[in-house]
Amino acid sequence: MNVADTERAATKLRAAGYDLAESESEADVLIFNTCSVRAKAAQKVFHRIEYLKSVRSSKIGRPIIGIMGCVAQLEGEAVFDHESAIDFVAGTRATDRLGSLIERARDGEGRVIDLGERSEGEGWNVSPVERHSPHVAFVPIIEGCNKFCTYCIVPYSRGRERSRVASDIVREIHGLLESGFKEVHLIGQNVNSYRPKSEEGLLGIKGATPFSKLLRAVARTGIERIKFTTSFPRDFHEDIVAAIDEHDNLCNWVHLPVQSGSDRILRRMRRGYSSSDYLSRVQCIKRAGRPLSLTTDIIVGFPGESTSDFEDTLRLVENCQYHGLYIFKYSERPGTPASRLQDDVSREEKRARFLSLESLQRNIQSRIYSGYIGEKVKVLVEGESAKSENDLTGHTTCHKVLNFPGDSSLVGKIVEVIVTEAKVNSLYGRVVDGSPAL
Ligand code: SAH
Ligand code: SF4
Repeated sequence: MNVADTERAATKLRAAGYDLAESESEADVLIFNTCSVRAKAAQKVFHRIEYLKSVRSSKIGRPIIGIMGCVAQLEGEAVFDHESAIDFVAGTRATDRLGSLIERARDGEGRVIDLGERSEGEGWNVSPVERHSPHVAFVPIIEGCNKFCTYCIVPYSRGRERSRVASDIVREIHGLLESGFKEVHLIGQNVNSYRPKSEEGLLGIKGATPFSKLLRAVARTGIERIKFTTSFPRDFHEDIVAAIDEHDNLCNWVHLPVQSGSDRILRRMRRGYSSSDYLSRVQCIKRAGRPLSLTTDIIVGFPGESTSDFEDTLRLVENCQYHGLYIFKYSERPGTPASRLQDDVSREEKRARFLSLESLQRNIQSRIYSGYIGEKVKVLVEGESAKSENDLTGHTTCHKVLNFPGDSSLVGKIVEVIVTEAKVNSLYGRVVDGSPAL
């Protein structure tokens, strides 16, 4: 989501007459996009500004410094007291007004701040040159969150859910197709809570929920590959799997964060589902017409999590056989309901649970990844591998990283690769002889 926001900010700024500098050391304006989901992420921006202040030569003059994103929205005015070098603060819905905030700071107005709502009729369009990749595009379909899980800061930093009208999304994807993009990721805090104010773009499309209709509408654009993240378990309707079954370009991957395997902890987190509700969604995903890769997020050490609660999580992970797992140690976020609970799982215990879950997942993943050896998979070649200059890298339709030796002329194409080796978090292979590059 932050990458998408940065692309949007760059598009707006370029339209306002700014150019992106080659490096942060020569820029006249520095804008930091921030995350506040865990304490560590929120502190990062201030460390980074301290560092830049220490390395920038005073000869090129002091840059205008602004911060945008979740830390900006939550801390507001307090940011200026925290770090006096900051000239402006732009909240999560102020992207459209960054140009004028810079101008005001330039004109000498101190402590410039905008925590307002989105401008009326603000466009979502991102210029192809600002995209993080020329092959894969992030397309926000919903922003904000109404769920208020007790540990989470997102509803406060990003505000209430707002869905984009489907016709606008579909139009953007047609444009991406024309510009040569091969893959789109429909993104949002909870994509399957998608509920636009108007049916425009969904009329006449079958589907049990607005999101499953949108999936079908996007699939019909004919774009090569469509991925979507994140799905919220309570809103995960079986029609999503039906839509995937109907359309080959809806990729073989579902990210469905469970957070905990203990019903007691799920209630304390106010997630709105039990472990058996969650498992019934997983069963539906496993019954899909083609194998879908399932990944999840888990928080360890939520306040009050006992050894037996944690064992429930281990059992659930064993049961679900995830292809990937993001594990987070609980981080207290000021102002959330959970911050009023005692953070009573010690740091050592959180660490021990993190390691134990990681080790269980490593075994599961190693078995799953090894099962791909000898299989043919389709890979979108995204670039040269950072690890070896002879190798290319890309993702499979089931969203696994796959590296293989190949010529850079294949970058941007979809090729068939036979998997020859399984590593911890990636696969290795070679192009199938005579595979047409699409
Ligand atoms: N909307 C998604 C998650 C978005 S936040 C969902 O509900 O599933 C991304 C992940 O950050 C969450 O899934 C959660 O695992 C983690 N996270 C959020 N708040 C956290 C906190 N206070 N401490 C630790 N991890 C947290
Ligand atoms: Fe946070 Fe819960 Fe919303 Fe996800 S659903 S963003 S965890 S409040």
